[in-house]
Formats: sequence, C-alpha cells, structure tokens
Amino acid sequence: MRKKIVAGNWKMNLNYEEAKLLLNTLINSAKSGNTNAEIIVCPPAIYLAAFSDILKSQSAVKLGAQNCFHQDSGAYTGEISPSQLKSLGVNYCIIGHSERREQFNESYDLLAKKAKALLKHQIQPIFCCGEQLEVRSNNVYKEFIMKQIEDSLFTLKAEEIAQVIIAYEPIWAIGTGKTATAVQAQEVHGLIRARIAKQFGDKTAADINLIYGGSCKSDNAKELFSQTDIDGGLIGGASLDAAEFSHISNSF
Ligand code: PEP
Repeated sequence: MRKKIVAGNWKMNLNYEEAKLLLNTLINSAKSGNTNAEIIVCPPAIYLAAFSDILKSQSAVKLGAQNCFHQDSGAYTGEISPSQLKSLGVNYCIIGHSERREQFNESYDLLAKKAKALLKHQIQPIFCCGEQLEVRSNNVYKEFIMKQIEDSLFTLKAEEIAQVIIAYEPIWAIGTGKTATAVQAQEVHGLIRARIAKQFGDKTAADINLIYGGSCKSDNAKELFSQTDIDGGLIGGASLDAAEFSHISNSF
C-alpha cells in the first residue's frame, strides 16, 4: 500500500524565527487536520538540527533535507553527509532538484551515488526529474525523463528503488504558476510506473511513490492527487504559506 505524501521544499527562504513559526503552525494544523498523508518539511539545512528537536515529540510532521553529499565523512568543505542527516533523525532527502541540476551541474552519475548513500542510511531519497519547456515542445520529454530515471536509479536493487520517492517536476511548471494539467501529469506518472514495472516487476511498481511538483496549489492539488499514479506532491512556493500547505495536505 503506497503512502500519500505532501512534502514542502522551502528552498533558501525564511530566517530562523520565521522558519520556526511556520514549522510550529504546520505541526498544529497537521495535528488538528484530517489528512492521512505523510507531511514532510524540507527546510534549509542550517535549521535541521533545531527542527529535529522540535519534531521529536510528535509524529504528524516528518523532516527532510534539500540535498546531501554521497560520502559518509571527510574533507568535503561545506557538504553534509547522509550519516550526519541520519544522526539528526532526518527521514527524507530531496536529490536532483532541477535547480541543483542546472545551477550546480549535478550529473546522473552523482545522483546515483547520492541515492545509494541515502538508502544505505535508511533515508528515503525524493528524486526529482522533469523536462525543460523546449524538451516538451520538441515532444521528446518521455525519453528525456526515462533517461534521467534509468541512468540514476536503475543500478539499484528492486527493494532499494521501492524506497525512492520519484517526484515528476516539469521545469516549465516550477515557480511559474503554470501547473501541468492532471492529464499531462498522469501521463508521465503512468509511464514512470510502467517503466519501473518492466525493469523491477509489478510489485515494486505498485509500491513505489510517485509525486508531482510544479506550481501545485490548493486549487489544483485535489485534481492532481486524484490521478491513478499520483501519490502526492512536492510543493515549493505554496509550502511557505501554512494555510495553503495545510489545504494541499488535506486534498486527498
Ligand atoms: C519545486 O521547486 O520543487 C516546486 C515544486 O516549486 P513550486 O511549487 O514553487 O513550483
């Protein structure tokens, strides 16, 4: 049985006081809300330790990181390892966000290493994939997305990839207010699940969580989340507004 997931990617936003206020508001609404979704917040890394303390007395909200390195420790100035994340009780980690692929040149090979390193520490990767507008306009988006997934995740074993959450995030929809239609999003999610089935078998495909990201808001979440192969959302801008994020979390 797959989980329903709503994960907030706060990116490099909010100072510490603002971030704590938002977290506490989200905890209160998650406790009083009627969602059966796994609610995840991914704050800037500098807040993870404090958030871990705040979150440890409850189970309504889970903690995620926005990025990690693939080595356990060593001379990697400025990086954070999966084992360090694990020591804070971090449950999830976004990898391969298009902003990191584009601005920090993250390769398919690097993302394969990050996915393996996280799984070694029982942290679930939230692996982002998705095409630029030009790729969609040229009608080669299906091959493009499949290559992103195959080249980074297909060296995993079936039981490992079943722990990966794949987030389909068309780049033309991220932060633009231009959401993919439910039909467009479902088409890609369905193709991803079918590809996982072909490579790893029907059970793995039935178990893996596939979520959508890209201008997902309270007014479109319900339609997106009701699609057969969409198990929730990765939310950017709208996750910075507690009421909006809670509304999205209650959209199943
Ligand atoms: C994201 O960057 O992961 C994202 C989904 O952003 P937004 O919701 O703002 O489009």
